[in-house]
Amino acid sequence: MTPEARAADLLTWYDRHRRALPWRAVAGERPDPYRVWASEIMLQQTTVTAVKPYYERFMARFPTVQALAEAPSEEVMQAWAGLGYYSRARNLHACAQAVMENHLGRFPDTEEGLRALPGIGAYTAGAVAAIAFDRPAAAVDGNVERVMTRLFAIADELPGARSLIREKVLALLPHDRPGDFAQALMDLGATICTPRSPACGLCPWREPCQARIAGMQESFPRKAPKKAGVTRYGAAFVLARADGAILLRTRPAKGLLGGMAEVPTSEWRADYELDGAAQDAPLPLSWTQVVEPVRHVFTHFPLELTVFTGSVPERTQAPAGMRFTKLANLAGEPLPSLMLKVVERAGLYSSKTR
Ligand code: SF4
Repeated sequence: MTPEARAADLLTWYDRHRRALPWRAVAGERPDPYRVWASEIMLQQTTVTAVKPYYERFMARFPTVQALAEAPSEEVMQAWAGLGYYSRARNLHACAQAVMENHLGRFPDTEEGLRALPGIGAYTAGAVAAIAFDRPAAAVDGNVERVMTRLFAIADELPGARSLIREKVLALLPHDRPGDFAQALMDLGATICTPRSPACGLCPWREPCQARIAGMQESFPRKAPKKAGVTRYGAAFVLARADGAILLRTRPAKGLLGGMAEVPTSEWRADYELDGAAQDAPLPLSWTQVVEPVRHVFTHFPLELTVFTGSVPERTQAPAGMRFTKLANLAGEPLPSLMLKVVERAGLYSSKTR
């Protein structure tokens, strides 16, 4: 089977089964590069189902690249809170500003031009170039890796196999509809060529698929074993004021969860000793330890935070660099999901009411 015939089979399948996604243009309509780009940044390491409500709210708040570029960074972080990977939100904001300042508000229409923007790596540049501008670019995400390693029974382990996968995608790209081809590959991986029990009987590539012929679909892709990060520990202090406010501060702009809000915490270290936690508290009080710690997994390490609760009278002023925020106004704070879990563990908040 020729590459052209394979691409044609996939596109025929796509024309009948494409997913309707809020950021996707309907057939025959030109996609909006801003919406394509924002959705691709949000979708990195997050599922379509999880992203949809965030995307809708984000677009309602920042309907254009100009609106996003001009928004205060706190507002952007707040709209992003819950999606995780906050460096992406900072880059998203910086990228929108770069598009306004250096490109007159229009996204560059080539992979090279896009890659020069903040927060746009090889995958996003390929995806936006293909989807928004119909450029013949390869956008290789986890779904595409799975489909291609199965189609060609690529036994090399990821991430090393990526360049070979990319070559294979480029060799299949049709000249006339590269944008639809990129989206079709993503859809095939998301809906048919799933990690477990792929629906090969419905797949437009069932005949040429090497993994299916060998009956080894689920053994692809092969992955190099991951090195687990060392667990870090720390203490988090939830201080409630009598008027129903809790003590918060803003994390430094750079680094993990940069610019986000948090309750005061100790350092997070592998060798953190809870015995000395009182010294890390924001105020010298009688703190109560909550038995069950909050566990969270970041990309590079797991974290275990032991929660301490305390209370102060209404007239109490926040220590320097901190603020009291009413629980009723918590939704307006850029609190990452980790911190919501901490406040929830302290018994002061329920995520169901957010
Ligand atoms: S035939 Fe099965 S394993 Fe092969 S690409 Fe299609 S769904 Fe995936």
